[in-house]
Amino acid sequence: MAEPDLQRVVVVGGGTSGWMTAAALVRLLPHRCQVHLVESEAIGIVGVGEATLPHIRAFNERLGIAEAEFMAATRATFKLGIEFRDWARIGDSYIHPFGTFGRGSGDVQFHHYYARLLHAGVQMPPIEAFSMACTLARTNRFALPSNDGRQITSTFGYAYQFDAVAFAPYLRRFAEQLGAGRTEGRIVDVRRDGESGDVSALVLEDGRTVEGDLFVDCSGFASLLIGKTLGEPFQDWSRWLPADRAVAMPCRTATAVTPYTSAIAMPAGWRWRIPLQHRTGNGYVFASDFVSDQQAMDALRGAVEGVALAEPRVLRFKAGRRERSWVNNVIAVGLSGGFLEPLESTSIYLVQQAITALIELFPERHVSDVDRDEFNRIVDMEYDRVRDFLILHYHATQRDDSEFWNYVRTMPIPDSLAEKMDLFRRRGRVVKYREGAFLDASWVSVYLGQRVLPAGHDPRAETPSADSLIAGMKALEAEIRAAAVAMPDHLAYLDRYCPMSAAA
Ligand SMILES: Cc1cc2nc3c(=O)[nH]c(=O)nc-3n(C[C@H](O)[C@H](O)[C@H](O)COP(=O)(O)OP(=O)(O)OC[C@H]3O[C@@H](n4cnc5c(N)ncnc54)[C@H](O)[C@@H]3O)c2cc1C
Repeated sequence: MAEPDLQRVVVVGGGTSGWMTAAALVRLLPHRCQVHLVESEAIGIVGVGEATLPHIRAFNERLGIAEAEFMAATRATFKLGIEFRDWARIGDSYIHPFGTFGRGSGDVQFHHYYARLLHAGVQMPPIEAFSMACTLARTNRFALPSNDGRQITSTFGYAYQFDAVAFAPYLRRFAEQLGAGRTEGRIVDVRRDGESGDVSALVLEDGRTVEGDLFVDCSGFASLLIGKTLGEPFQDWSRWLPADRAVAMPCRTATAVTPYTSAIAMPAGWRWRIPLQHRTGNGYVFASDFVSDQQAMDALRGAVEGVALAEPRVLRFKAGRRERSWVNNVIAVGLSGGFLEPLESTSIYLVQQAITALIELFPERHVSDVDRDEFNRIVDMEYDRVRDFLILHYHATQRDDSEFWNYVRTMPIPDSLAEKMDLFRRRGRVVKYREGAFLDASWVSVYLGQRVLPAGHDPRAETPSADSLIAGMKALEAEIRAAAVAMPDHLAYLDRYCPMSAAA
């Protein structure tokens, strides 16, 4: 029984979203709610989702999770960005870094100066040479960034690559220690209040019931509450993001434990490579309209670098989201509310943003429409922006070597993305967001990497003389290179900082 003024929150599902939600609520709102999670080990979790965005560090910090301990327990490696290979043209490679180009200071962004020199016909190295994160990634080095904003080593961020199957159990231990309850069992029915339509209880296979005031639907693709029970419509975005399956297969690491994830374009999609401490995760994300499961499996088997550690496993999904994520007293977090393919490792980020919004808008005894609408606005905005960013990778290609690439290159795109691309093409302007996953450097790296070049640049980039600009760029490149060389090898750093052998 909850204390009279505590809301009874029932979390449905014990995957990454379920335990992230439970851990955050027990840790951050102990005086507002009592948390109980229901999951079915027989159903299991999706078991993928190994690459993250830097925002996850803030999530862990808020919860008071110690980084080295967490990394050892989840066999994690560091991630400085994502390498995109063969995307605009076969043979191309660029990195979307977590960090800035240049020092990231000043009113005029670095890429305008870079573009100015290109427009003047100056021979320039790829823009990566001016990014600390890219240079570290390319040289396979890592150390934690400096906190001193004057240092070039403060200009990068990082995320983690971790074992998806180890993350939820780690958070479960954390949440249970803080008082979260847990019931094991398969939910077979959902009871609703006849008048309000709110969910009132879950009925388990063995007849037990779990009652609550607020229900967080983390039931994965089953979408038990928001989809099946409340029937909230699904916005299908597969016309823009046609990949609808993935085949996943881990292998032994045979090459470098890189501090970055690779996304390698394939004839009908792309392939991920995510190196962890104990193995490498691989998967081929593909569009089933263009390639069969068997062809995808064969292609993945042929591509992985080391001995396979499991049989290939096919997962099915559809790009899109529920029209609303919070309906009545049900809040969808994670795959139950929507999915955008893992090209930019955004799912766990979207889970985190939904949890943050829930905590900020946590209801009084009665849910207010205004709070619910605000929650839905935040979630929709995050999904819509990630959607546009993902579509950019596919649409801005010059590849014409398969039906799949011909489709994505020529498909109509959302107006919101077309406007962003026009702005960048004209004068290198990146649409400004005050909030959201991807800020300027992310868009710049993908535009340039996908060969979307600006015709002009910010007029303020004309102020310094060309000679001083060229000299400044050369000095910056050398400073970044020297700082990178002074850092340890990624694997050596992991061995010192958070070896999996140190896990409790
Ligand atoms: C191919 C692929 C690759 C991905 N890669 C990434 C990535 O690199 N980075 C990233 O951020 N994200 C990635 N994701 C997404 C990521 O895996 C998910 O966002 C994350 O794992 C959260 O999943 P979930 O907890 O919502 O669902 P799940 O893990 O599926 O958990 C659902 C839970 O609900 C329970 N459940 C369901 N039905 C019932 C029932 N009837 N009774 C009781 N319990 C029930 C299950 O037992 C389970 O505990 C990827 C997803 C896919 C498909």
